[in-house]
Order: sequence, then structure tokens, then C-alpha cells
Amino acid sequence: MIYLDNAATTRVCAEAADAALYAMREVFGNPSSLHGLGIEAEKLIRYSKDTVSKALGAEPEGVVFTSGATESNNLALFGLTENYGRRKKRIVTTGVEHPSVAEAVKRLESRGYEIVRVMPDENGEITADAIFSAVDGNTCLVSAMYVNNETGYALPVERAFSRIKKAYPDCMTHCDLVQGFMKLPVRFKDLCADAVSVSGHKIFAPKGIGALVIKKGVRIAPTLFGGGQQNGIRPGTESVPLIYSFAKSVEALSPTVAERLEKVGLIRGFAVGVLAEAGAVINSKPNASPYIISAAVPKIKSETLLHFLESRGIYVSSGSACSRGKKSAVLEAFGLGGVADSTIRISMTHETTEDDILKLSEAIKEAEKSLVKINRGR
Ligand code: PMP
Repeated sequence: MIYLDNAATTRVCAEAADAALYAMREVFGNPSSLHGLGIEAEKLIRYSKDTVSKALGAEPEGVVFTSGATESNNLALFGLTENYGRRKKRIVTTGVEHPSVAEAVKRLESRGYEIVRVMPDENGEITADAIFSAVDGNTCLVSAMYVNNETGYALPVERAFSRIKKAYPDCMTHCDLVQGFMKLPVRFKDLCADAVSVSGHKIFAPKGIGALVIKKGVRIAPTLFGGGQQNGIRPGTESVPLIYSFAKSVEALSPTVAERLEKVGLIRGFAVGVLAEAGAVINSKPNASPYIISAAVPKIKSETLLHFLESRGIYVSSGSACSRGKKSAVLEAFGLGGVADSTIRISMTHETTEDDILKLSEAIKEAEKSLVKINRGR
């Protein structure tokens, strides 16, 4: 099997799986219980907060564990607007956000907020200047993703947010860091973000765990109400196995961010060459995150190609797994609407090899021959 759909989800690493099993079997107390088993569970949560915050250069007190980045993004958008959006009614975001931001923003729009969606320009770029210029004194919140999940496009979030914070210190900033976390060398302080969303299952932890990392002093109103866990920001008995498992995968990855980035960068360079030779057109920009390659194989529908590749044991995605069945508004926004139907997403890890990529390109060549032949026969 050659798995090249890591932006959709990853296989759980041994460290994370072992940690989950350990917490489930050995440290199964309720972290709110006052007895020893509860205290042991609470210790694992504290350890996990330290680990996740350290990986970002943030404060452990700012880490709120959630069920994943969808929840983190919703909590950030609704929780920040509730506290900071009473008088200021403008929200700035981009036109290429993940649905967990885009749909939440739509909801806020229906509640009376004015939404400004910054779109890519004619070169497919969203500049820091464009994001900054959309913000005014009436803006309560800016939400921008770090790396686009469909194309790998890296947005200039640090540059945009630092300018925004200088000019409008009261304007809240949120970043969906899901496709950048543990892949690009991001520091919380440099981001100038008040809240940052991350997800476990994109980085070899199980599905159903993520975090919202909140800057000290920033107030996030809860969207759930209950027993007051996690300072009441996200009540509910903490999933210690998932939390500890997430922390263990972060711990395993954080010393090698730069090393892995370089390695994947080399594979990407190799892939771009062989894929072009196989007749694919690379949609992703050269300065995109190397972990994601968006490519179009002209004349073959992406779903047809996806299943052909699957029959050869190679797993990729068509556009984005999250927009399954729907024409991608994000590819359209990037000016790739014309090739959206024939676009596949190849998303790699540090374990992806040149041999994997060669097999992919051979299979694409084979698909071009046999599928075009089928089409001719019709
Ligand atoms: N944001 C981005 C950029 C994503 O790629 C994803 C996952 N597809 C999410 C948010 C949602 O994350 P989760 O699956 O953890 O809810």
C-alpha cells in the first residue's frame, strides 16, 4: 500500500497508540476525582498540556483539548465573537478556509456580522497586505488558515496578524494551523494569534482529539456547558487516552520539524518532476507546504483516477476529502476551477519515498493509456 492521503488523516504512530492503551488500561481514573487514580489521570493531562504548548512555544494554561479542529475552530469563532464582538460587527476571513471555519462564519453572518472574505488575487496569492487592508476599526475578529488543505498554499499569517495587532490591538486573531502544525516551524508568539487550532489525526494521533491554544488573558466564551472541566471553556470529562496519545505524537515529532520539512521538500521536488513527466499539471505553487501537492491529470476525472490508483494500491484524494461530492469552491477561488474536475491531492509524510512517487507516476501513465483508450472505445 502506498498511502498518499495524509492531509485527510494519518496512521496512528506507535508512540501514540501505546500511550492511548496505557491511559485506557492503567490510568483510567476520572481526572476530576480526588483520589489517587484521578490525580494520576490529571497528571497525564498536565503533562500533555506542557508537551503541546512547548511544541508551539505557548503557555500550558492556554491549551484547551477538544474533539478535533472542527470543534477548535467553532469554539474560537463563536467563543471570541461572544466576548469581543458585541459592538464590533465585522469579521475578516479568507475565501479558502476549511468548512469548519467557513460554515461557522456563515452562521455568524446570519446572526448579523458583516463578513469580509479575502480572495486570492489573479496570481492565486493572498497577500498579508490584502488581509490587513480588509481590517478596520469595526473588526472584532480575523480568522486565517496557515496552510490550505487542498493546495498546500501557505498564507502569510505571521505578517498579516502582526500588522493587524499593531494597528488594531483589540482585534482578535485566530489561525487554523491544522496543516502546518508539526510540519512547519511555527512559533505561537510569531503568529500574533489569540487562538490557534490544531488536530491530532493529521499528525499520527487518533481521530477525535485536537486543541485550541489560547493566548494568556484572552477570554473565550464556552459553546458547551457542564461540569466546569478545562476552566469551563470546554467542559466534559477529558478523554485522557486521546489527550495523552496526542501529546505523545507531538513529543515524538517536535524535535524533527526542520529535518522532516527538508526531507519532504526533496521528495516534493522529485515528485513535481516525475509527475510533470507523467503528464500531470502541478497546481500547487513552488512555495506551498511541501507536504501537499495538488495536481491535475488532464482528461481524466479525478474520481476515476483515484479509483484506478486505488486498484494499484495507491491512495490519494480528489481535491479535499472534506468537500466530497461537491465541486471545490476553494480550488475555484484559487483560479483552479477549470481543472478542479481532474485534480487530485497527493499528501505526504517524512516516510514517503521516491519509490512511492515513481510508482504513483507509473500508475498515472498507465491510467492515461488505459482510461483514454476506454474513452475512445465509447
Ligand atoms: N482545518 C483544516 C485545514 C483541515 O484540513 C481539517 C481536516 N480536514 C480541519 C480543519 C478539521 O479537523 P478535524 O478533522 O480534526 O475536525
